[in-house]
Amino acid sequence: MGVRTMSSKGKLFLVVGPSGSGKGSMIAKLKQRHPEYIFPLSCTTRDPRPGEKEGEVYHYIRKDEFVKGIEEGEFLEWAEVHQDNYYGILKKPIFEALEEGKIVIREIDIQGFKSVSALVPPENLIGVFIMVTELDELKRRILMRGKLPDEEIERRLESARKEIAESYLCPYTIDSIPGEIDRMADDMEVIIAKEI
Ligand code: 5GP
Repeated sequence: MGVRTMSSKGKLFLVVGPSGSGKGSMIAKLKQRHPEYIFPLSCTTRDPRPGEKEGEVYHYIRKDEFVKGIEEGEFLEWAEVHQDNYYGILKKPIFEALEEGKIVIREIDIQGFKSVSALVPPENLIGVFIMVTELDELKRRILMRGKLPDEEIERRLESARKEIAESYLCPYTIDSIPGEIDRMADDMEVIIAKEI
């Protein structure tokens, strides 16, 4: 059964927001608080960053494996993010969890959110935007993750501007404030409670 035609109470919360907005840390916090929720992995062709482990947030795969996955229809959506790296949400874990009526939480970029919106019925899909108002602060946080070439930082800031311009597509917004990951997770819990 395809997601479009299913009738289930499962809810897919897609968390969108600029690189460095804290969405990954907020989701990690929710994962600690709610082992009953489903946190599906995506595939990416980028290398793991220091401290990241295979199977926690991503499957780190080669580009040829990713292309094979596309050809075999394994992805609900996929996109090239920050140039040259592919990211994609696997269909299977999402379909299964939604059919079982589970709460599913995944971070995604705005183009991925738009693709999934065309595939998953609106009653099963909730977009939450993690809003950053200070781009200087965002730059500081991107730099904290490790050394990046100037063009890469500029590219991420440009992506952030574009994502913020389309944030209205998500019905909910959470303000990203440094050091407030717990509060952001609290806000997300309020949104989840409203939607279920
Ligand atoms: P990062 O490399 O910082 O983990 O992620 C870069 C961007 O890719 C972030 O905006 C993140 O939300 C997005 N992203 C992560 N997984 C997926 C996915 O499966 N599909 C799409 N389209 N974007 C993703």
